[in-house]
Amino acid sequence: MNDTVLVTGGAGFIGSNFVLNWIAKTKANVVNLDLLTYAGNRKNLLAIENDPRHVFIKGDICDGVLVASLLEGHRPRAILHFAAESHVDRSIAGPDAFVETNIVGTFSLLEQVKSYWDALPPGDKAAFRFLHVSTDEVYGTLGPDDPAFTEDTAYTPNSPYAASKASSDHLVRAYFHTYGLPVLTTNCSNNYGPFQFPEKLIPLVILNALEGKPLPVYGDGLNVRDWLFVEDHCAAIRLVLERGRIGETYNIGGSSERKNIDVVTAICDILDELRTDPVLGSHRELIRYVKDRPGRYRCCKSDKVISRRPCGVCNTSQSVSPWNCHVSRETSQTSFLGRACGGMDYRR
Ligand code: NAD
Repeated sequence: MNDTVLVTGGAGFIGSNFVLNWIAKTKANVVNLDLLTYAGNRKNLLAIENDPRHVFIKGDICDGVLVASLLEGHRPRAILHFAAESHVDRSIAGPDAFVETNIVGTFSLLEQVKSYWDALPPGDKAAFRFLHVSTDEVYGTLGPDDPAFTEDTAYTPNSPYAASKASSDHLVRAYFHTYGLPVLTTNCSNNYGPFQFPEKLIPLVILNALEGKPLPVYGDGLNVRDWLFVEDHCAAIRLVLERGRIGETYNIGGSSERKNIDVVTAICDILDELRTDPVLGSHRELIRYVKDRPGRYRCCKSDKVISRRPCGVCNTSQSVSPWNCHVSRETSQTSFLGRACGGMDYRR
């Protein structure tokens, strides 16, 4: 075993941010296994295209032969499992792929990893970790006055996406309790930041607004989500990987709850300020309320991860958001918008 980690889904939104951060902040190698579905994009990884510490493999986590050969060939000390079907709306329209990748794929990966881990020498076996990246959507819905989700909140998944992630969480947990596989699970809230596929709220709104297209807002727009800057999420994952207690679950939230309509209007206002043509009206005029999705939660928030768990994971993103200006990693709102749009010019 060497200082290599195997990342699944490392060409997607969070996975690619994690891989870029990992290469920048550590000396270790990354093997990046990604099927390059519609959500995966090699361009997200352009900055490390020629870096010998990054090995990209196009392939499926369900392909046991491939996964076994990668484990044998690269001898990773940890698996960071990001690969998933991740969009709630798609899971409502077509749940099959969610069952296949999120449940069957995670099961297949666990089987291969267990075989690899079983055969490791005792020291390597003790140091090995399987970190499973999951979502706070497994906890379901909160009313306006309910306390935040904690790691002890009962699972109540409401969409096929959430149910498939909940199933994968249970499988991961079972491989710890049944076989002793040293797992860690993280459940995070909504991420935002560079390289997000523009089917998700923030990049969708930015790109539609730039093109003068309608800005769809579900229901009355009063649904609340907690927002977590993706680089803060990646930092928390690295911390859980190094210091998390085996078999434990860690919620990762941003303590940055916003009504959807407030997110959309904030983006409109920022784009209004940046616009060079004063004759055009406000981007707010593009907002359109559309019928909410079935199973949709009204309010969703994550507890501060530090509160319940002893590994010292802290809630790092308190002041990091695109709609306030004291941003630690992004130098300004304009920088955020540019990066959220994949570097394109957002001014019109
Ligand atoms: P994403 O959809 O942007 O990326 C998923 C990646 O997985 C893509 O690169 C895709 O090509 C790859 N992939 C899909 N099926 C695969 C398969 N069978 N084999 C190999 N690769 C495959 O997702 P994301 O937003 O980066 O989310 C990453 C993880 O974080 C997911 O597990 C998701 O459930 C979880 N999560 C995301 C958010 C969020 O706000 N984006 C919030 C909570 C949890």
